[in-house]
Amino acid sequence: MYPFQEGQTMLNKIKDFLGVDIKTDKYKKGDDAKFGKISKFKTPDEWVRSTCGYCGVGCGLYIGVKDGRPVYTKGDPAHPVSRGTLCPKGLTEHEMVDSDNRVTTPMIRKDGELKAVEWDEAFKHTSDKFKEIQNKYGKGAVSCISTGQFLTEDFYTLGKFVQLGLESNNYDGNTTLCMASAVMGYKQTFGSDGPPSSYEDFSYADVIMLIGANISDNHPILKLHIAKNKKITGKKPTIIVVDPRHSKTANMADIFVPIAPRSDLALLNGLCYIIFEQGWEDEKFIKERTSGYREFKKNIMANYPPQEVAHITGIDVKDLYNLAKVYATANRAMSAWTMGVNQSSIGTDTVSAICNLALITGNLGKEGASPFSITGQCNAMGTREFGFTSSIPGYRNFASDSDRAIFADIINVPTELIPTKRGYAYPQIIDAIDRGEIKALWVTATNPLVSFPDQVKLRRALKKLDILVVQDAFMSETAEVADVIFSASTWSEKEGTYTNSERRCNYARKAVEPLGKTMSDANIVIEFSKYFEGKHELLFKDFKTSADIFEEIKRVSRGQLCDYSGMSYELMEELGGIQWPCNEQYPKGKKRLYTEGFECKTEDGKAKLLPVDWQPLAESCNPNFPLNLNTGRTVEQWHTRTKTKTIGLLNDLAPEAWVELNPKDAKKLKVKSGDRIKIGSIRGSVEDLMVKVTEVVREGDCFVPFHFAEQMINNITIADFDPKSFEPNFKQCAVNIYSNEVPEGIKQKEVEIAGVLEEPVSSSLSNKIAKKHMIEQEKGNNATQK
Ligand code: SF4
Repeated sequence: MYPFQEGQTMLNKIKDFLGVDIKTDKYKKGDDAKFGKISKFKTPDEWVRSTCGYCGVGCGLYIGVKDGRPVYTKGDPAHPVSRGTLCPKGLTEHEMVDSDNRVTTPMIRKDGELKAVEWDEAFKHTSDKFKEIQNKYGKGAVSCISTGQFLTEDFYTLGKFVQLGLESNNYDGNTTLCMASAVMGYKQTFGSDGPPSSYEDFSYADVIMLIGANISDNHPILKLHIAKNKKITGKKPTIIVVDPRHSKTANMADIFVPIAPRSDLALLNGLCYIIFEQGWEDEKFIKERTSGYREFKKNIMANYPPQEVAHITGIDVKDLYNLAKVYATANRAMSAWTMGVNQSSIGTDTVSAICNLALITGNLGKEGASPFSITGQCNAMGTREFGFTSSIPGYRNFASDSDRAIFADIINVPTELIPTKRGYAYPQIIDAIDRGEIKALWVTATNPLVSFPDQVKLRRALKKLDILVVQDAFMSETAEVADVIFSASTWSEKEGTYTNSERRCNYARKAVEPLGKTMSDANIVIEFSKYFEGKHELLFKDFKTSADIFEEIKRVSRGQLCDYSGMSYELMEELGGIQWPCNEQYPKGKKRLYTEGFECKTEDGKAKLLPVDWQPLAESCNPNFPLNLNTGRTVEQWHTRTKTKTIGLLNDLAPEAWVELNPKDAKKLKVKSGDRIKIGSIRGSVEDLMVKVTEVVREGDCFVPFHFAEQMINNITIADFDPKSFEPNFKQCAVNIYSNEVPEGIKQKEVEIAGVLEEPVSSSLSNKIAKKHMIEQEKGNNATQK
């Protein structure tokens, strides 16, 4: 018999046994004019059309509103991205709005405790402190971390205020932790950021190569577009999944490529070698649409023969040839990637390597053929275009006199106010705090005390601040240690736009009034600016509504690659979002960039074939730490769980962190699924993690999701960053696992050597590249010194 759950009353047990429990009012169905039979208990008074505020897929949805609060979320059947479907997070999104975890009033720490205050006191206290710090230490001593969770209107306003109002360029986004490598990779290849692709390409491609992209967990609705492929093309596409971990996404694969951790760049270069060797390249495309061919090919042919690549990647030479053939001989091949590629100290160059492979095979700017970076947060794309972090809004360059002058003219401020260079990136801001150079940090809708690598260093740095201001809708771990909290409204309580991975700008309509004493993030910044003499008049005098801010964004974007000038909230709602560029030439947007005649933003209009090299891991496994740790996400939780930890359904499905262990490693540790272990690196340890014994990870690898503050895996991850993008290398570090039965952890076996070995086939490449890497890092470090 099915066991009764603890705590049930006898009556409930009898109802459950008889199967009548589901006939209670709570579960009854009611009639709804829009969606037919839905829960009677929650039948809304009205449905408000909007957009999901979690991830970069950008699904369209309806928010059901009853008695002024959100009670339901349903997929929008007319939205081109999701066609009525939503993942578990989208389906429960309304529950986070009234969660116990909301911050409903501004707060200031007094006598060691956060106390509720009025907005005037919070603004006055913070502005006084910022002014005092800037007077004493200079403008750059106040810094700010923005977020991909904001509406574009929010972070455009925030960026404008920090850069031009506070006059500090020490301003970056949390998007540096997830998307910066894609940005820099696109920039070095195409001359500009901007994914050239559409989700529709998944429905037209003959070959789909997913690299470091577990879309089943992280972008589940994209599978809908792959599922349509056979109906459209008449045959199933060949799906290649490249990943050290046999994730849920690998279950879809026709070809699974279980590469060694972070050997993807070597694999991509190796595929290029085979393609050149076999004459499978698209000569016409290379000649007409690319530059740098000769130098690129020379580097590939000199360094990436299949035997070398097989040694680095762990993939057989025969399989490499097969893979190259499948990709290169397809009519339309697309490659898509996410954090498995980006979150690496060679992420930028790996992105360019993906683009190289697409370029030599002519897979750019046509249906089903594209190198496609899929974004993480709902508005990571918007921050890239208008966030004012790594570029001036509208993909403008800080170093360009004309870009600065044009931008200043459009928004009517003196040109001298526009910074001439980017300030510190996110990890550099933390380093500058640690050095005592930065004294104030304003964190918005992000939670570094769970999401940042090497927490020991971060926590040491934050203690040195004179003031930590956290602007958030939720009481995050970072908010708990703040000196001041600006209480923000969240999804459904404010109006604006999110831009998804395929450049689709979606309209998110306000459905309910902000909870308690919260304000939209844009309004917080606008009101705060009034406490700084003359700044409100200079920057925000025309910003009365979200639409006013969007109008300025349109003006700023006109004529740029990310052109929004033809958009309006009304048109976005009518079309289910619009893919930029949208202007007189493309009044309903454009599906793809770099189509025939659509030039790249390089000097000659061509895409660059770039010689980029694989490099060995900064921290390899060793006798004390013989396992490689990979971190990532699960479909049920969102980032550091500020939004999802109070949602019952999601927490029931994924209530705590776990460690995936291969059966062979589990045997060494004498553990089985459900046992508890400790995991540690040279930087620290995490106790009490549940074991999942699974073939999903290879022997010598393990995986832990990063969402959980209670079992915070970033206590042990490495502070190693891509020198071009500053994105952390979250995916590989050396660890050991300690069980009750084997408290000393796994011992790495010494390899017994009999006789004399010749130099291993790839050691020459590894050594050569490692040396080159050290020289380049040295150069990079010098270049980024301020
Ligand atoms: Fe929201 Fe992303 Fe889920 Fe779509 S896939 S419902 S955008 S979280």
